[in-house]
Amino acid sequence: MKRLDEATKKALGMNETPETQNKTAQPEPQPEPQPEPQPEPEKKVSEIKKLNDILTENGELYKIDLGNKVLTLEPWKGKTKKKLRKIFEGITDVEEIDFERVMEILLYDHLGKDNKSTVYLNSGEQLVILSALKSISTGAEFKTDSFCPVCEAENTFKVNLYNATDYKENKLPSEEREYNKGKLKLKFVDIKSFDYLKETFEEYQSSDDYDGYTELVDAEKALHIDLGKPLKDTIEILDDTPINVVNKIMEDMDKYLPDCDVQKEHKCTVCHKTSKFDVEIIKTVIAEFMGI
Ligand SMILES: [Zn+2]
Repeated sequence: MKRLDEATKKALGMNETPETQNKTAQPEPQPEPQPEPQPEPEKKVSEIKKLNDILTENGELYKIDLGNKVLTLEPWKGKTKKKLRKIFEGITDVEEIDFERVMEILLYDHLGKDNKSTVYLNSGEQLVILSALKSISTGAEFKTDSFCPVCEAENTFKVNLYNATDYKENKLPSEEREYNKGKLKLKFVDIKSFDYLKETFEEYQSSDDYDGYTELVDAEKALHIDLGKPLKDTIEILDDTPINVVNKIMEDMDKYLPDCDVQKEHKCTVCHKTSKFDVEIIKTVIAEFMGI
């Protein structure tokens, strides 16, 4: 499950961890002039929604509407903590952590039985569901530490996930359902059956052929769209497509993907500039479970 592992690591922000560790281990580099933070390039967004708008209580269960799918969520239980602690027993290096298993325990085990085994979630969807599970299980409010994006000082601040979670649901616009680039002619159609997704996902898992085309594979699954032809045929065409065209296609697919920002506006206690801080939700959740 190579792809899921990457998505999990991205969701966990683990790609950044070695860098942070290096920063403390190595001599300080010469200070560089600090560029003004650039606004994020605007993504093609269907709609940004707060956690409050997409999460509803339904008796003892909760429902979350991701736009392209509705999932049932079951709050964490005592055994969630037991299982998680077992994973972290004796771990001294982040590289030793079985993140796939961590996500199973924290996330996939808490999806309703109707979607547990069949649903595909990209990293943005995983993040919004974890925010929801934390909110319904141990409360939406917590204290967190994060680094100021301007001066890099560590700040501690309070977060309410209902306010801090922005979910970008994304639906493929109807006018862009046909995609023609060179020899690549795709027609996207809605997928009604989870079986189709499961089948394609298994095919994907068992092969390295799709490395480099992960945005396309993600778009196909996360949006529940069908490429209109078998995935392997599309991959064959992409293999013979000039790289600049392939890159453009992957960029376009990335725009369609659902995404989640867990951010909080906060005035830095050191440089006094107000910025959006990343709330490292998954690290926070793990720390809470481990009592650290
Ligand atoms: Zn600062």
